[in-house]
Amino acid sequence: MAFGFFKKKEPAATPTPASPAAPLPDDPTVEPPPEKKGLLKRLTKAISKTRMILSRKVLGLVGLGQKIDDDILEKLEEAMIEADFGVETSGFLMDVVRSAWKNSTIETTDQVLPFLQKDLKHRLTHRGNALNFAKAGPSVILVVGVNGAGKTTSVAKLAWYLTSIGKKVVLAAADTFRAAAVEQLKTWSQRIGCEIVTGADRADPASVAHRGAERLLESGADVLLVDTAGRLHTQKNLMDELRKIHAACAAKKIEGAPHETILVLDATTGQNALNQADMFKQAANVTGLFLAKLDGTAKGGAVLTINERVEIPVKFVGLGEGVEDMQPFDADQFVDALFDLKDLASAQATGEPA
Ligand code: GDP
Ligand code: MG
Repeated sequence: MAFGFFKKKEPAATPTPASPAAPLPDDPTVEPPPEKKGLLKRLTKAISKTRMILSRKVLGLVGLGQKIDDDILEKLEEAMIEADFGVETSGFLMDVVRSAWKNSTIETTDQVLPFLQKDLKHRLTHRGNALNFAKAGPSVILVVGVNGAGKTTSVAKLAWYLTSIGKKVVLAAADTFRAAAVEQLKTWSQRIGCEIVTGADRADPASVAHRGAERLLESGADVLLVDTAGRLHTQKNLMDELRKIHAACAAKKIEGAPHETILVLDATTGQNALNQADMFKQAANVTGLFLAKLDGTAKGGAVLTINERVEIPVKFVGLGEGVEDMQPFDADQFVDALFDLKDLASAQATGEPA
């Protein structure tokens, strides 16, 4: 099978300067606070379809420690495709399992899922999932994506998140092509309690970014978040706009800005999301993904496929329409929820599907 796109050379790891406010890995011995438990529940629900089918189908195949053979591997691949991993991701995952079997890293079926879990965690984390901040001084985060992907909402979510970890945030409403987008962001900024810079209707987005950078420096804030227009009429159009915004930040002598360019993808749109990612990657130096609307997919496979295909780390997931309905992406938690081995084991013991 051809899985050429998975075998592209890996880009150099995104440098992730340690930030004192960067989220710490979860300590499994500490009981998560209620709001975090709620989000974990929602994450689990978001991937419930994949999870359910995986549990039911895969359990019978790999639950018992029998010797792996070609027939079992073929059935396992079918089960993965049904679990919405998609043909390509399933094929790829099975490629990984097959070669591990051929070189005797795994020999019995009960080793398949633990092996895959470890492998997937590596795939989802090896590019670094933490937000990049400036090494010194304030940071600029550009948020890009097509109209309707969830950009403005994700900007608000990022503002809420950054504020909650103690950063002072300024918003620049640089999507000046839709008056509603400016109003939407204004409303969020009032709720979150952060400053917002807006421009006149149809103002040059770069001028709004420029004023945002000015306010960032004047107000001594930590982070400027720039909402952009999702215009993709032509790639040149998009590139020109992004270039101007880059130049506006550079003119303010904010070294290294933008420190992050976050591409917002609607996780429910499958192949479209992948096409958009290709487009934006060519136009801008995208450094991280915000996968919005994961609550609307019920298919966890989307995260894996996007991660493999786009080759840019998933940094945040959106789990609803409110500002708090988001999470910094936690690959361990995600993969554990996807292949809940505890559930599998107890289902096996009772003979019930998990
Ligand atoms: P933009 O055009 O890219 O700026 O997209 P918006 O931020 O305006 O969002 C478009 C629609 O998607 C709005 O109705 C949002 O409430 C909704 N939306 C954004 N993020 C999420 C999410 O994570 N989950 C759900 N269910 N809806 C979302
Ligand atoms: Mg918008």
